[in-house]
Amino acid sequence: MSELRATISRVFGFDTLRPLQEEAMEATLAGRDVLLVLPTGGGKSLCFQAPALVRAGLTVVVSPLISLMKDQVDGLRGYGVAAAMVNSAQDPAERSSAFDALRQGDLELLYVAPERLVMDGFQATLAAANPVAFVVDEAHCISHWGHDFRADYRQLGRLRERFPGVSLFACTATATERVRSDVREQLGLRDAVELVGSFDRPNLTYRFLPRSDRARQVLQVLSRHDGEAVIIYALRRTDVDKLAADLQARGVNALPYHAGLPDEDRKRNQEAFLREECDVVVATVAFGMGIDRPDVRCVLHASCPKSVEHYLQESGRAGRDGDPAECVLLWSGADYQGWRSLIDQSGQHDDHDPAIERLNEVYRLASGASCRHRSLVTHFGEAWTKEQCGACDVCLGEVPELEDATVIAQKILSCVHRVRQKFGAAHVVDVLRGADTEKIRRMGHDQLSTYGLLSDLDQTSVRLAIDQLVAKGYLGVADGKFPTLALRAEAGPVLRGEQDVMLLAPPRPPQKKRRRAVSGGGGGSDPTKEDLGVGDFVVFEDLRDLRREIASERGVPPYLIFADRTLVLLALHRPQTDGALLDIKGIGERKAADLGPRFLERLREHATEAQADAETEGVD
Ligand code: ADP
Ligand code: ZN
Repeated sequence: MSELRATISRVFGFDTLRPLQEEAMEATLAGRDVLLVLPTGGGKSLCFQAPALVRAGLTVVVSPLISLMKDQVDGLRGYGVAAAMVNSAQDPAERSSAFDALRQGDLELLYVAPERLVMDGFQATLAAANPVAFVVDEAHCISHWGHDFRADYRQLGRLRERFPGVSLFACTATATERVRSDVREQLGLRDAVELVGSFDRPNLTYRFLPRSDRARQVLQVLSRHDGEAVIIYALRRTDVDKLAADLQARGVNALPYHAGLPDEDRKRNQEAFLREECDVVVATVAFGMGIDRPDVRCVLHASCPKSVEHYLQESGRAGRDGDPAECVLLWSGADYQGWRSLIDQSGQHDDHDPAIERLNEVYRLASGASCRHRSLVTHFGEAWTKEQCGACDVCLGEVPELEDATVIAQKILSCVHRVRQKFGAAHVVDVLRGADTEKIRRMGHDQLSTYGLLSDLDQTSVRLAIDQLVAKGYLGVADGKFPTLALRAEAGPVLRGEQDVMLLAPPRPPQKKRRRAVSGGGGGSDPTKEDLGVGDFVVFEDLRDLRREIASERGVPPYLIFADRTLVLLALHRPQTDGALLDIKGIGERKAADLGPRFLERLREHATEAQADAETEGVD
């Protein structure tokens, strides 16, 4: 292990390990089979890459996505590791040079697509190269129960027969036991060391807000992420196009992404995001697979997704680098309605249909008022003991409860009864608030006993209360020509005063952060961009420009040059020598040699400027 730690520090520039990384590496170096389950951003790659460098022989990595494969190989080469890939999308010259390296035994890591790995001819070439370990990345793709089943992954079970002495290393971010046992069985893992990490992502701050004015709410969130990478998810292509256009009109550097765009536009927009030429992508869920940008600072759902699993996967694209990031979910009764009618169109369904159950779950989760970290983690069967997470809108005190919620609920429920369960939410809101509309006069609803009962509340609060009563199952939505509100049996005890109801008031906007004049704070952990004072922030932004410049010269995404966190440390410490450079986390020998001169030069310019400033101000 000490050799391994030294290698990790020298090559990758990391001096500490993340949870379960040590256990996983120890087990695989001992020749054991390993099943490693860590959430996105948990640091799975290091667990098989670092052992591959200290152990003699070749490590073969199976990866389902060519774009991810290319990123990983480019990244490894940047660290000076002998890595190559073989897949159908690469040009023939590149492929044959990979084969040459393989035959000559020059490689430490070889990435291959699953369909290639199971070819007999390829297996013979591999056998001659004496592989010592196989890594199956995204191992859940082997299971029918996973959400990304791939037929060619099924064939990987044959590896064990063909290479009985080689150890297997499977990793995934999918948590369910059913998928895990399927992976063990299909791959033929032997007495595998199974390591399952926590699914909590402490660096993510969750905010689940009722949607009132989409464009305004989105802009409010974006104002907290000026110049940072943000992914906005919407349900329909038309929502994507409209929101992207709205944002562009307000000067936000945003691009759309969905399956309806011409291929080349879609590709160009994705590339622009990866290359940091655009900050904000507005997308349908088609955007995400293969997006490895680690410094996404915010994932904003402009509509509620269709299951908690989907939410966790999509929001998990924020903060993969471990630095603070925000996940905002805007939910509304309209989304629920939209999904319900999609499901209903596909045949006969009752409330116990799995798709509807999943929808109810995510809707309850979104509209609930308990700690977001707690509700996500316990949804996946993990225990949660913290009283306060300090990183969600509930624990941060941004979600006020509605006063007299039970009485308000009773008024709403009786109004639905009085309008004979024949009207939708908007009309019920009008009646309760005592509005003077043509429809109310025509229907004589100004004569109802519930007319004007909630005139002291604003429209948003009443609408939100109704949405919550639907989410909690007291009200149903009957789907005729127009969706109408109907009482469900659960409403009885509330109307009879036998049961209390808790409802939320519209959220308070979070406190806006202000950059400090001087760097500091952050406590014991690594400093992040938030800890930079104004002066250091300027240097950080300048180093970011340099990173972008080098990345575009080399045709790779900027994050493969240096992580944000490394730039933060450079801006804070401003090393002036090679030795000082190597003390920065994330800079190993190879990166120091390769990129050091240009970054040192840039830092020296800042040092000279600072000197000149100090002199003109007469400060020593
Ligand atoms: P996963 O594959 O589990 O989603 P990655 O392997 O892509 O996660 O790692 C996420 C990020 O964390 C990468 O930028 C990686 O360089 C970084 N990382 C991994 N291990 C460490 C560590 N021990 N210390 C610091 N950063 C790490
Ligand atoms: Zn919380």
